[in-house]
Amino acid sequence: MARYRDAKCKLCRREGDKLFLKGDRCFSNKCAIEKRNYPPGQHGRGRRGKLSKYNVQLREKQKLRRMYGLLEAQFRNYFYKAARQKGITGTNLLCLLETRLDSVVYRMGFVSSRAMARQLIRHNHFQVNGKKVNIPSYVVKPGDRISTREKSKSLFVVQEAIKNFDSRQAVSYIDMDTSRLEGEFLEIPSREAIPVPVNEQLIVELYSK
Ligand code: SF4
Repeated sequence: MARYRDAKCKLCRREGDKLFLKGDRCFSNKCAIEKRNYPPGQHGRGRRGKLSKYNVQLREKQKLRRMYGLLEAQFRNYFYKAARQKGITGTNLLCLLETRLDSVVYRMGFVSSRAMARQLIRHNHFQVNGKKVNIPSYVVKPGDRISTREKSKSLFVVQEAIKNFDSRQAVSYIDMDTSRLEGEFLEIPSREAIPVPVNEQLIVELYSK
């Protein structure tokens, strides 16, 4: 499957915001946003002027899409699915993204980034309700228990991520047992509970044109 292969920090610099794509490095002073907070490329420094309304909406969509590491078509499908559901489309969209298995594993602190979560899931390191699941987009439901497989508990990346977990934000809709490396997805979160600094209404306006 196609995927983005260029430098991840360029994506943050393009959006002018931290997207937390590289784990612990994002919390250190090596973060590219701390050092070079202007768009990448030869003319990057002079490029950030006043944006049109369309551009503001587009940047907000790109920011959210890149945060979750999705391709355009995947992201659009999530939007259409959210629009078909009852309730507020923007909130539905965020909830759909948060119920992806890779996102839940990341929120639980088993890994330091969603990209790492995706890789470890594909390599069969996690279970849902005791059964092996290797699909990063698997939809986690309230009450589901996510655990690290016995042989995977000693993985260096998992141990390091757990050690540094406090530095990232724990969320109220996931109950985490760090000693057993497992946790429960408690409920579909409210908008306020999802720590994602985007204005999802702009994304709804963009796709509604
Ligand atoms: Fe973005 Fe992390 Fe790179 Fe900083 S270190 S620019 S937050 S990916």
